[in-house]
Amino acid sequence: MRTDVLGVAFDNVTLDEAVDRALALLEEEGPHLVVTPNPEIVQRAEKDPEFAEILSKAHLVLPDGVGVIYAAKILGRPLRARVPGIDFASALLGRVAGTGKRLFLLGAAPGVAELAAANLRAAYPGLTVCGTHDGYFKEDGPVADAIREARADLVFVCLGAPKQEKWIAANGAAAGARLYVGLGGSLDVFAGKVERAPESFQKLGLEWLYRLVKQPSRIGRMAKLPLFLVSAAGARLRGK
Ligand code: UDP
Repeated sequence: MRTDVLGVAFDNVTLDEAVDRALALLEEEGPHLVVTPNPEIVQRAEKDPEFAEILSKAHLVLPDGVGVIYAAKILGRPLRARVPGIDFASALLGRVAGTGKRLFLLGAAPGVAELAAANLRAAYPGLTVCGTHDGYFKEDGPVADAIREARADLVFVCLGAPKQEKWIAANGAAAGARLYVGLGGSLDVFAGKVERAPESFQKLGLEWLYRLVKQPSRIGRMAKLPLFLVSAAGARLRGK
């Protein structure tokens, strides 16, 4: 049973449970899709039926961002845990390293995925990164071919939402991997290009505040968050 938050159905799982499910999906023929929607993505899906359909068919839908957790609480169906995409990805790599499963990194500016690969290999000894590709390509076909030729099992697709989810829906089967995870700007973080908020902010659910202070240009995107919570209150009052 999934938990509906303003049109997106979330898996009510902890980080450990999410990783266990992902590992199980890696054992089956794919393609499987993991998505990590934040409030911005939920709002996007409301206006984009194709995107909403892809999210509804995903194999694992994880609540990234404290806004989704607040909205679920306001709706009267609280989710057990926030599962940020980057935490999920890191925990998954910790379990995949040394198993022989092959990771491909797709996305971000040229050079970033290679840097992320080097850092991840150092952080997770025994991790097999079988290939990388930047996120600024014109044709999908050659990228899907590169993933297939690298014999990837797991692909982190970091093109931003909804581009990454649409790319996976259209190309996941051709690229031949078992599990695809849409992870937005995570390669920039793994590459050390973008700093994550200190742990104290993460624990308090204030990562968004840290990002806002570091990148004030995000204010336009974030100003939508209060509206998201107001929509949740409205839906609750309408008995949805
Ligand atoms: N990106 C990409 N190809 C594109 C557009 C974006 O590879 O055509 C990358 C961009 O370089 C960045 C990531 O996608 O690394 C999106 O980051 P953002 O923080 O906007 O994503 P979010 O996590 O908010 O979805």
